[in-house]
Formats: sequence, structure tokens, C-alpha cells
Amino acid sequence: MQHIPYILIVDDDPALLQALPQAISLRLGQAHVDTVDSAQEALRCIQEHDYDAIISDIKMPGMDGLMLLAKIQEIRPDTPTLLVTGHGEQDLTVQALRGGAYDFIQKPVERDYFVVAIKRAIQTRQLRRQVAEQQHALEHHAQSLEQQVVQRTRELVAANAAKDEFLSMASHELKTPLCSLKGMAQLMRRRFERVASPEVTNIISMERSIVRMEVLIQDLLDTSLIELGRFTLRSEDHDIVELCQHVVHEYMTTSNPPPQLLLNIPAEAIYTRIDATRVSQVLLNLLSNAHKYSPSHAPITITVRHSNNQGIISVQDKGVGMPAEQLPHIFERFYRAPEVNVQTGSSIGLGLGLYISRKIIEHHGGHITVESTPGEGSTFKIMLPLVVNDDISVGEIQAASYS
Ligand code: ADP
Repeated sequence: MQHIPYILIVDDDPALLQALPQAISLRLGQAHVDTVDSAQEALRCIQEHDYDAIISDIKMPGMDGLMLLAKIQEIRPDTPTLLVTGHGEQDLTVQALRGGAYDFIQKPVERDYFVVAIKRAIQTRQLRRQVAEQQHALEHHAQSLEQQVVQRTRELVAANAAKDEFLSMASHELKTPLCSLKGMAQLMRRRFERVASPEVTNIISMERSIVRMEVLIQDLLDTSLIELGRFTLRSEDHDIVELCQHVVHEYMTTSNPPPQLLLNIPAEAIYTRIDATRVSQVLLNLLSNAHKYSPSHAPITITVRHSNNQGIISVQDKGVGMPAEQLPHIFERFYRAPEVNVQTGSSIGLGLGLYISRKIIEHHGGHITVESTPGEGSTFKIMLPLVVNDDISVGEIQAASYS
């Protein structure tokens, strides 16, 4: 629908008040024109209507055109105002333009000039309106996009939580049948061992598969608990020297083939407040990675010491190592380095071991770091806060070899 221009003319000269609307209707075609003979009257109209253009004489009794212009700038700053000045009144013209007038028209009014000026003013007003409308539409669109993002984020958070709930439930449910399977396999192995059956080797490899499955399921369960914020620790004061000896012994007796392992430990205990099961889990994971990503006879060194109120356990291997750009990612969930081949044992893994390890150590108020050189090997370090006020002393480092 075409917009009919709406114009206000303000002049105390009745002749001009008659002539100007006539010029407009003759040259502009359809237009709606209000005429008033004082600035006060004009102000009332401007309050009520949103004009496309206002034409006002400058010299009027009472409030003059410049004062009216100032008021228009306050009330309707987007409405172009043209001021009519007398011949030779340059000062007034300059004042009008500085005061924000859109244009000025000199008396005696030249009709062609007047009509061109008013057409331009109307176009300007309409353009300003369009810009304002488009800006409004854009703001509205931006708001609705923002709402959509908020809504989508809420949905994604809910879907993520549902996924973690499902993982937690599924891995929990899988644990029970796997546990009975493990029990039955043990029973069968003992029976076959008693009669020295050759089936024993098959049952042993079955048991190993069950253990690997147990680790994977436990990793999924732990990850979902961490993500759901339900991961808890049962911490007590523990000697990490003893804990490392215990974990190394367990690893050496259960892995096949066992690695060549060197354990550097101090003579005295190093006490930290930890959940021993969880820290053992981290150590086992580091050990099994060191073993997995090294040639089968490459040595693995575990060192336990303390420094700056921290108990430090490091696991060093002489394996494939990792390039620097991979290091920031290896503690992320599901991260498995591309093109890294497992050197020893099974390649089964979900890329969760280091993620869980980091979370466990951070839950203890400690941290875990890695240094690695491709082709030379990697060193993982776990740092755990020492028990406060405990009399800790560390003797000479002892070395023990396992192979
Ligand atoms: P997974 O071993 O199941 O893939 P992890 O979270 O334990 O998952 O390890 C993530 C990745 O980090 C591994 O896929 C491997 O690429 C790299 N990585 C971990 N430990 C070592 C190591 N000792 N030597 C070389 N690469 C390693």
C-alpha cells in the first residue's frame, strides 16, 4: 500500500498558508497537508501526528521557527524540518541549519525549488522509517535467534545428561552378568587345571577378555559418574610407596607377557590422603599404557618421591612417544591419537583411561602431567598433596627390578 505523505505547514502569513498547500497538491499529487499559523499550534499537531515533513516560517510572533525547530528535534528528531527565511537573512539560515534544519527555503518562495526540497524531505523521512523498521526487524530476529540458541542449549544439555544417565545405567547392568561369567570361567579353569586339560590356555584367554571388558565397562561407568557430578572418593591416609609396590606386583602377576619394570622408591613412607582404589586405578592405567605403547621388552621405570609438599609418582617408558601437538588432547574424553599403533598386547580402548585418570587426580587436589618425545618415550607424572603436619622423611632411593 502506497504511503500518502503527511505534511505540516506553519506560517503566520495567510497568503503563504494558502499557496504552499496548493503547490504541493498540484506538483506532488496525493498528499495530506495540515496548516497552522503559530508555533504553539504546530507543537500540538506534532505531538499528535508523525509528519513526513514540516515546513515552518522562521519569523513568527511568540515562539519563532528556530525555537520550534529545537522542540521538534526533541519530540520528533527523525522528522525533516524545512525553514522559510526572508531574503538576505544569511545569519538565520546558518542558525537554522546548525539547529538541525533539513533544508531552508527563501522568500519569495520559488515553487519548483520548494516542491523538489519537500520531495527530498519526504523521501528522507520514508527512508529513515524503513531503516528503523529494518533495524527493529533485525533486533527482533536477533532476539528470537538468541532464544533459539538458549532453547537448543537446554535441549543439548538435557540430551547429554540423558546419554550419561543411560551410560551409567547400561554399564551398571552389564557389570552383573560379566561378574558371574568371570566366576564361572575361574571355576572352569580350576577344574581343567585339576585334570591338566589343554583347555586351560583357552579359559585363561577367555578370562583375560572378561577382564578387558570389565575395564571398558568400568571406564564407561566412571565417565558417566564424572559427567553427572556423582563421582566421589573414599579418602584415607595412605603411603604411596606401599601403594606403588602393591600395584606393580598386581600388574606383574596379571599381565602377559609382563614388562621389564624398574621401581625406584624411598626407604621411608610418603603419606597422602587418597582413595587408594582410585589412585591404584590411575597407576594401573599409566602402567598398561606404558606397556601398550612400547616394544615388548622396553623397560618401564616407576619412581616415587616427594618435593614441595607433594608426593610424586612418575611412570616412564621408552616407547613410541607422542608429538607435541597431541599432548594437549590426550587427557580429553574419547581421545585416541591417530596413527599410533599399540606395540604390546590388546589395542582395545575407548580413549577414556587418561581422561578418568586426570579427573581422579584432580578430585584429590593434585595434577597429572606428561612429557613425551616421538620415538624416545613418555613420562607421566602424578602429583598429590602430602598429608599436612605429618612427619615425613624420605630415605635413600631404593631400586628394585621386576621382569
Ligand atoms: P586408550 O589407551 O584407551 O586409547 P587413554 O586415554 O589411556 O586411552 O590414552 C589416550 C591416547 O593417548 C592413546 O590412544 C594413545 O594414543 C596416547 N597415549 C597414552 N599413553 C601413551 C604412552 N605411554 N605412549 C604413547 N602414547 C600414549
